Amino acid sequence: MEATSNRYDVAILGGGLAGLTLALQLKRQRPETSIFVAEKRPGPAPEAAFKVGESTVEISADYFARVCDMKDHIEQDELFKAGLRFFFPAGDNSDITQRVEWGDSAFAPVPTYQLDRGRFENELARRNVEAGIDLVQGAFVDEVELDGDQHSVTIVQGGPGGDRSTITARWVVDAAGRSFILRNKLGLAKDVEHDINSAWWRVGNGLVDHEEWGAHDETWMARMERPGIRRYSTTHLVGEGYWVWLIPLASNSHSIGIPNSQRPWKSGRTTSRTSSRSRSSHTGASASSRRSAGPWSGKQACSSTRSTRRARTTSRWRTRTSAI
Ligand SMILES: Cc1cc2nc3c(=O)[nH]c(=O)nc-3n(C[C@H](O)[C@H](O)[C@H](O)COP(=O)(O)OP(=O)(O)OC[C@H]3O[C@@H](n4cnc5c(N)ncnc54)[C@H](O)[C@@H]3O)c2cc1C
Repeated sequence: MEATSNRYDVAILGGGLAGLTLALQLKRQRPETSIFVAEKRPGPAPEAAFKVGESTVEISADYFARVCDMKDHIEQDELFKAGLRFFFPAGDNSDITQRVEWGDSAFAPVPTYQLDRGRFENELARRNVEAGIDLVQGAFVDEVELDGDQHSVTIVQGGPGGDRSTITARWVVDAAGRSFILRNKLGLAKDVEHDINSAWWRVGNGLVDHEEWGAHDETWMARMERPGIRRYSTTHLVGEGYWVWLIPLASNSHSIGIPNSQRPWKSGRTTSRTSSRSRSSHTGASASSRRSAGPWSGKQACSSTRSTRRARTTSRWRTRTSAI
């Protein structure tokens, strides 16, 4: 859509996750506020291979679902997340059942989600327009002038050398991610000494089910409330100096990434602590005391997670933890 005015209360630079959710939140809380969002990408985002940032934690899941009112979309068109799951090294790592596992045996009481970023941002964009927000796609923010309470934002449409237009707004929010428009303009950049890197890609045509790698071991399989839960976790295969993440996406693909660090994780102390937590979390509640649940409905997910909480608060768990 095009801008319907040249004067707004709020101008948001960048219509990605942060920009689109903020616009929705503002509009829900203050319907009279006029909002302009400039996004440089011209059309809908592709599913699966779009952006990283797919695995939500409790606070962001609550923000997206409740504050931004996206619960219906998320619970129908995205995936429930079965918490974090770590596998620490064991031998040559060829047998996953021998690796120390840290993770929940069921879905947690507070739901979290795996979001396909393309799918999610397309739905956010649709709801922005529906809510009366002026979301202009294919609009590159070229210039921002901060001046009293009437700031100006100049956008270019139609590619380099395209049409330039300027709007004014009382508030300007930089949600342009790594373009860092205001940070660069105001000279706020700071060096970060910790040098970290990552690479990521997607594997399409079906979810990787790493639980199948351990299906030969009945005891390992029985640690979970039922088969099939592990693959909904954000799984980390941890090694010295790196980890590999596996995140399932509702677009029937898997997000795989490898972050690495010059300050490597060292085996030893960390392993023994997680080992104790893992064993106790898998032995604290009997399989029969756990209710069956799945990623299929919020209600089911909640009922399953009460038993997870019990598993974590057994006296056995506390004793072992305090003995570390
Ligand atoms: C390797 C890695 C893994 C991560 N994993 C997770 C995770 O599992 N869970 C999680 O919660 N977070 C994760 N994150 C963080 C997450 O990806 C980011 O916090 C999140 O994507 C930031 O969203 P954003 O809306 O601020 O930026 P973006 O999603 O980048 O959106 C910025 C938008 O601004 C637009 N834009 C940029 N410049 C301009 C311009 N000049 N004019 C107009 N538009 C412009 C872009 O096109 C884009 O749409 C991860 C990050 C990395 C690097």
